[in-house]
Amino acid sequence: MSDWNYKIFWDEVLRQFKQELPQGVFSMWFNMEYEDSKENTIILSVSSKFLETQTKQRYQKEIEKKLFETSGINLKIEFIVKEKTKTSTDETDNIEVHSQDKNSQNNKNAGNRINNKTSKPKKGYHPALNKDYNFDDFIIGQNNNFAVNAALAISKNPGETYNPLLIYGGVGLGKTHLMQATGNALWESTELNIIYVTAEHFTNEFIDSLNKKKMADFKKKYRSSDVLLIDDIHFFQGKNETQEELFHTFNELYEKNKQIVFTCDRPPSELKNLSQRLKSRFERGLNVDLQTPGFETRHAILLKKMEKKTVKIPDEVLEMVAKNISSNVRDLEAALTKLIAFTELTKKEMTVETAKDLLRDVFGSSRQRNVTIDIIQKTVADYFSISISDIKSKKRTKSIAFPRHVAMYLCREMTECSTTELGNEFGGRDHTTILHGFNKIEEQITADPSLETTMHELEKLIKEATNK
Ligand code: ADP
Ligand code: MG
Repeated sequence: MSDWNYKIFWDEVLRQFKQELPQGVFSMWFNMEYEDSKENTIILSVSSKFLETQTKQRYQKEIEKKLFETSGINLKIEFIVKEKTKTSTDETDNIEVHSQDKNSQNNKNAGNRINNKTSKPKKGYHPALNKDYNFDDFIIGQNNNFAVNAALAISKNPGETYNPLLIYGGVGLGKTHLMQATGNALWESTELNIIYVTAEHFTNEFIDSLNKKKMADFKKKYRSSDVLLIDDIHFFQGKNETQEELFHTFNELYEKNKQIVFTCDRPPSELKNLSQRLKSRFERGLNVDLQTPGFETRHAILLKKMEKKTVKIPDEVLEMVAKNISSNVRDLEAALTKLIAFTELTKKEMTVETAKDLLRDVFGSSRQRNVTIDIIQKTVADYFSISISDIKSKKRTKSIAFPRHVAMYLCREMTECSTTELGNEFGGRDHTTILHGFNKIEEQITADPSLETTMHELEKLIKEATNK
């Protein structure tokens, strides 16, 4: 025991954050435990270097401010990394969207699996699942929070929470990863018979079985699964016989409370050439979508991917990449791979300049490329029903100053223009004014998470306007 014990202050500060922050944000970043106190210092543990850096960057100041308000002492915080304590995934357990009975055997087992992150499962890996697609490596952001929670809930209570679960969204947003993470979690923690197939594979196997007169085997195989994961069901469009077979498989599994998970590149309502009754099965349970990740999440994904690499890429380069590639995670990964390969080959530190050079074609094809200040100003002006000249004007009424700050913020996020250039485009203002506007919005987003939703909406509108 040390002479100091500030735990009581820490508990209070933690309680305040929990109250103030959106649940998902709290769970993601306050994944730390009180360890000890020393003179004027509280020592907290986190589960990875990654979390340490991120938490420090985001919350150290705020935490210390609150500690001062609570205790009247200038308390500092220090982190230690404890690899096998809680992981980010554990915490997301606590933000379940659905609280189901937690006593079933499956649930207990699955919970253990997530808590005790082990290297290799005793029984080996599931032959059809990619072992790297697990929950620990999946970064949670506003764009996927709900889907992750649903998948986690299923990995604890298969067949009992959401059935079927259908995850939909554009290419490269993590559908397969999330689906397989669910499969891997269940594989490690239960003895359930888990089948993962792509819709294409299912279709080919079905046709093959028909030709070889082995339909009985096919039926038996799929209908005896405990967990059936079918990836990319949009492939079933127009495949009438396969649809028919799937319909019956579905019914049989569903009746027996077996878990079914689908992924699709669009909401099921938009599927064509699909029998109505199958469509209604897809829509029956829970449909969740994956959105494109925001800048913070993209940055966090890059940092996470770098954890496992031996080469280092400076953070400013990662930030630049995250800023410029907003289409999907797959593109983000491809860019990172390119930078890593180059660094390994040349053994030189990567610079922002070299990275821009290397990724020029990638940025060129990235949709963000053409986002212009004009489009941003126009979209924001329309959104708030003011004029572009208002945005550029010197008027300071709140109904104009706020949209102006929003536009400044988005310009910094979505274009590569410097603050000086932006100053010129905002009625000849100084670059510090742009920074001020940016910071103001950033503060407001922290204080009022609903603003983040508005920002996402605006980003979407801007991208749409850009691609017109
Ligand atoms: P989809 O099936 O939606 O096309 P994938 O699941 O294949 O997308 O994801 C593409 C790549 O991006 C994979 O390598 C996956 O690991 C990665 N990825 C997607 N989302 C995330 C995330 N939130 N955190 C970490 N990696 C992600
Ligand atoms: Mg996929």
